[in-house]
Amino acid sequence: MIQNEIAENLIRIKNSLPDGVELIAVSKTKPVEDIRVAYNAGQRDFGENRIQEMAEKFEVLPNDIRWHMIGHVQGNKMKYMAPFVYMVHGMDKEKRFKELNKEAQKNNRVINCLVQIHIAKEESKFGFSFDEANAFLAKDLKEIYPNLNVCGLMGMATNTSDSEQVKREFGALNDFFLMSKKKSPSIHFNILSMGMSGDYPLAIEQGSNRVRIGSSIFGTRNQ
Ligand SMILES: *Cc1c(COP(=O)(O)O)cnc(C)c1O
Repeated sequence: MIQNEIAENLIRIKNSLPDGVELIAVSKTKPVEDIRVAYNAGQRDFGENRIQEMAEKFEVLPNDIRWHMIGHVQGNKMKYMAPFVYMVHGMDKEKRFKELNKEAQKNNRVINCLVQIHIAKEESKFGFSFDEANAFLAKDLKEIYPNLNVCGLMGMATNTSDSEQVKREFGALNDFFLMSKKKSPSIHFNILSMGMSGDYPLAIEQGSNRVRIGSSIFGTRNQ
């Protein structure tokens, strides 16, 4: 994509977001030059879905970038992101929290993370069910995982043109978020990450406060 367009897309989308909704620019598969254009246009939060690719980009880009891991994470790769990752969105089972806590501890850091909830119809998408998440969030997470800050929820809706269905899925996640927030002893539990290029207006309508947008900013991906 022409670099001017990246900056234009970014600014147009950013200006369209209501107060309180923050943009994570999803730069997966895109070259560092494209990230620099967005950075120079003021963007600081970037999302990647592969740990090694994110680590390589981290090495060469300005260090005030906040790196978000939005993809599926594997335990044996966590060590590569633990020194610098700002927030991990794709925490899809309890085991992941144990693994990430251990790596965060080694780096003497507290890492922000979100509980990924499976709200879509597709089996291929990852995450806790509402029941599993409910039981998980009832635990004393600060005590069990002292090096993690469990600060909210993440979800992906079904990839469908049926906007009513997408709305229902986002709405259900928002209801669960509000209920969990009320029950949570942590004042930091306040992030609801939902919405991508194709569905973020619906996600915002349903209560999202973090949108993860890639192709509408950087253009379509080949991979
Ligand atoms: C790729 C990806 C996005 C961004 O997708 P676009 O449709 O390009 O905006 C958002 N969230 C997750 C989890 C992704 O993997």
